[in-house]
Amino acid sequence: MSIISPWKQDFPIFSTRAYPRLCYLDSAATCLTPKHVADAIYHYQCYAHANSHKGLYQLSANVTEIVEQAREKVAHFLGANSGQQIIFNSGTTEALNLVAYSFVEPLLIKAQQQETASNIVISAAEHHANLLPWQRLAQQYQAELRVVDLMPDGTLNIEHLRSLLDSETRVLAVTHCSNVIGQYEDVQQICQLASDKKIATVVDGAQAVARGAVDVNAIGCDFYVFSAHKLYGPTGCGVLYGKVEHFDNMRPYQLGGGIISSVSYQQSEFIAGPLKFEPGSHNVAAIVGLVEAIDYLNDLSWHDINHYLNDLAFYLQQSLQELKYFKPLVKLPLPEYKGVTLPTLTSFQIKGVHCHDVASILDSEDIAVRAGHHCAQPLHQFFAVNSTIRASLGLYNDYSDIDRLVAGLDQAHQLML
Ligand code: PLP
Repeated sequence: MSIISPWKQDFPIFSTRAYPRLCYLDSAATCLTPKHVADAIYHYQCYAHANSHKGLYQLSANVTEIVEQAREKVAHFLGANSGQQIIFNSGTTEALNLVAYSFVEPLLIKAQQQETASNIVISAAEHHANLLPWQRLAQQYQAELRVVDLMPDGTLNIEHLRSLLDSETRVLAVTHCSNVIGQYEDVQQICQLASDKKIATVVDGAQAVARGAVDVNAIGCDFYVFSAHKLYGPTGCGVLYGKVEHFDNMRPYQLGGGIISSVSYQQSEFIAGPLKFEPGSHNVAAIVGLVEAIDYLNDLSWHDINHYLNDLAFYLQQSLQELKYFKPLVKLPLPEYKGVTLPTLTSFQIKGVHCHDVASILDSEDIAVRAGHHCAQPLHQFFAVNSTIRASLGLYNDYSDIDRLVAGLDQAHQLML
């Protein structure tokens, strides 16, 4: 079969002599960069760069405008009501730590002072970024870390979740789409269960945003986080969306310039809004890159992107399932799921061959996949395996990449057995 990516030409790495045969199947780790994004960053850095929010001269004021317009753009992308609900930071990891420190820790302190027990609920599907901050808080405040089981297909066990949420739950933190399983969770239903019990919710959208159509109002979460580099933008830029009422009551996560209304040696007063959580100098070039990535994807059309990626995901699953030595981590959603959003990543093992050996053999054929626990060790423990190989798709992939993956897996299987 042959289907050619209409967008591959937008990604300069495929025309460099350094990687003439690159077959990149690791977009879940980071997406490659389209020329549009790289050009926008270059253009900003060369011709428009200054420090934002502080200078009283035109160049700086223009940069402030770039950042504030970027908030509006990201708010629109997430379906949020206002740019004032958008905090920029370095990525999903920092955003989750921010929520843990600025929003949840004070709740735990208050409960402790009132001699009330606390618990934090996460799922077994979480990336370490959405586990370790909660684990540390739980240890620090003798709170219980409760973990929702998964169904055999890797999605959350809703009945188990329901049984874990109670009046002592301070936060529910779940992924919108696991970086190992790839299926979308029904976060709207999940957040509803929590908000019915007045429990705050944090949704890790790192793997979900590359398919567009996130609507934080419809989801009903208190916080939503993602990283620009999972959306064909640069690393070093992330987003924390929060409900309007939260930011005012939250304490700053890090302290420094640009977040205060007054400072003395005795006392400091902080400004309101997202800037309170953005101390120091903004990473404006990365923010520019994120905005360009959103524009680029909007221009391509989300309908076309999703149609294309679904087709590719179907072909990936179909091709892998035909291999007699293929062992998926979870049951693949074929064929019943044709027509809905199929996972663009698949984690699996090759019977009898170590995952790292498979990845090395694939690398010798210029095929880039992930092998290991993908920053989700407990998730692998849940399915009683140590490691998996993960193949994940992006806009630049096409059927020939999947055919090469299959040929590489055949080779690994023959060589190692
Ligand atoms: N959450 C999920 C589901 C992820 O896939 C990742 C990255 O792989 C992260 C969080 C952490 O993202 P970052 O490294 O951009 O902070």
